[in-house]
Amino acid sequence: MSKPILIVGGGPAGLAAAHSLGSIGRSSILVEKEGELGGAPILSGYAKLVPTGEWAKDAIGGMVKRVVDDSSVRVQTGATVTSFDGEPGNFKVELSNGDKHEVEAAILCSGFTHFDSVNKPEWGFGTFPDVVTTTQVEQMISSGGGVRCPSDKRKPKRVAILLCVGSRDRQIGREWCSKICCTVSSNIAMEIREELPDCHVYIYYMDIRTFGLYETKYYWRSQEEFKVKYIKARIAEVTSDGDKLIVKGEDTLVKRPITIPFDMVVHAVGMDPNVDNPDIAATFGIDLEEHGYVGVANRYGAMGATSRPGVYVAGSATGPETIDDSIAQGHATAMAVLTDLKQPVGETA
Ligand SMILES: Cc1cc2nc3c(=O)[nH]c(=O)nc-3n(C[C@H](O)[C@H](O)[C@H](O)COP(=O)(O)OP(=O)(O)OC[C@H]3O[C@@H](n4cnc5c(N)ncnc54)[C@H](O)[C@@H]3O)c2cc1C
Ligand code: SF4
Repeated sequence: MSKPILIVGGGPAGLAAAHSLGSIGRSSILVEKEGELGGAPILSGYAKLVPTGEWAKDAIGGMVKRVVDDSSVRVQTGATVTSFDGEPGNFKVELSNGDKHEVEAAILCSGFTHFDSVNKPEWGFGTFPDVVTTTQVEQMISSGGGVRCPSDKRKPKRVAILLCVGSRDRQIGREWCSKICCTVSSNIAMEIREELPDCHVYIYYMDIRTFGLYETKYYWRSQEEFKVKYIKARIAEVTSDGDKLIVKGEDTLVKRPITIPFDMVVHAVGMDPNVDNPDIAATFGIDLEEHGYVGVANRYGAMGATSRPGVYVAGSATGPETIDDSIAQGHATAMAVLTDLKQPVGETA
């Protein structure tokens, strides 16, 4: 009788891994530290996802239901792993709730942490209530309340979206591109224009990275159909004149200083390494890569292998990833675990 596979984190990657294992009759224990499954799209209340346009609560909610309904997945919410010892095929696990398990392998699907905009104080977050993050705008849309200025609930007439907040910024130790925030911002800009047709939306960028097929659907469509304006700029600071927020910087195409008033400023926040990663690395005895994400030991052999045999990783725990790629990695890593264990499928513990 085979033992279960441990999955840490119940976001898109972890849900995909659990579903894959369950669909071929292998049991798993899914440990999620928060009180509910779904990862960032559910816990942070995302609205319509790119590129499908499906509401996060429906798309990822469907993945949650599939796992919760699967009797081969034992879900433990509100728990973390406190110790993990043994060898591939035979690990002993202890959880923060006192539970003990024996598992054959572990897949870390512990995701990322949203960049905290207070670490970019010159751009006004935490000082001016109408400076918000993309996550907050997602929540305004998904709650059905519409996009409103938090200070007085008025409909904004001018919105600035600042890209690369907490990404591609060496001054604050975050060199990576977070991959998805250009596309998410173009999508949010279109959603604002759709809800508030009189509102002017400007996106301030260093480069636009609506990669792959997203170029047509988001970059060009947002300009041609929704009249969103893109300004290549270096933003110096966001202040207030007591009435409007003032975005100051340099238009880097015409090389002129800019000082422009807005009702609302949105930070397109990036994807930091999970703040738990130092603890996760110590508990599981694995290496982190140089930025603090979980290190991937082998890109072309076993999918998701870490520095410790029997411990695997999938999704945005490895670095900024989209939902699609996190799901694909969750499925593929589940398969890699079984391949490495080389045990017959169809047996559950
Ligand atoms: C504002 C914003 C909007 C986005 N919108 C989109 C979009 O529309 N489309 C798209 O493709 N991508 C989008 N993304 C990216 C998307 O959030 C990620 O691709 C996705 O969440 C990654 O899934 P994951 O399962 O790897 O990680 P997560 O979603 O981060 O899930 C990880 C899970 O692990 C849990 N966890 C963490 N640490 C521990 C621990 N120590 N023990 C137990 N559990 C733990 C967490 O609570 C969480 O439930 C967006 C990102 C941002 C910042
Ligand atoms: S995806 Fe766009 S906004 Fe996000 S870090 Fe990369 S370039 Fe900046």
